[in-house]
Amino acid sequence: MPMRAVEALALLKRGNNRFMSGLVRQDGQTRADILRLFEWQSPEAIVLSCSDSRVPPEIVFDQKLGELFSVRSAGTALSPSLIASIEYAVETLESRLIVVLGHTNCGAVQCAVNTLCGKSAGSKNLNLLVADIHPRIRGKLKQPSKDLEIEVWLNARGVAKDLISRSDLIARAVSIGQIEIVAGLYSLTTGAVVFD
Ligand SMILES: [Zn+2]
Repeated sequence: MPMRAVEALALLKRGNNRFMSGLVRQDGQTRADILRLFEWQSPEAIVLSCSDSRVPPEIVFDQKLGELFSVRSAGTALSPSLIASIEYAVETLESRLIVVLGHTNCGAVQCAVNTLCGKSAGSKNLNLLVADIHPRIRGKLKQPSKDLEIEVWLNARGVAKDLISRSDLIARAVSIGQIEIVAGLYSLTTGAVVFD
């Protein structure tokens, strides 16, 4: 019986509390765990998070081998291959929850804000990445740190919506109640994840 989305979310919240308290799990990454997972995986959640080195989902949620299906890109920017990775997990694994995890002070979202005026992000591929983020943000940074956090939330919530609008497979899974998508924000200062 697959874990329900609400149970998976509770598990991630408990894991983040352990991470913040420093009392992290010691199980789940032994030789026996490697062998146990040799044939099959059954991650409790699919997590799309920023590639930022300070936001590794397995660490901030205190999860171990086989527990998270992790997909990452700078600024959680979407691309066909990234969406396909999530589609694969939705179609073949038992996860019932997709988490889109943004974080404070996100350099990719900051870069997207800086290039809204049409300025180059530095390369053709970087321009494609920020172009994906652009429609989800406002681009107003009057109070840089506070307003960037608003932009990160807009981006994460927008990604949650765009996963549905850009993928028939994910849209169908959401419409039949197979999958729930939630957005979250990781704080680089406290280590806490806040969910919508
Ligand atoms: Zn980031």
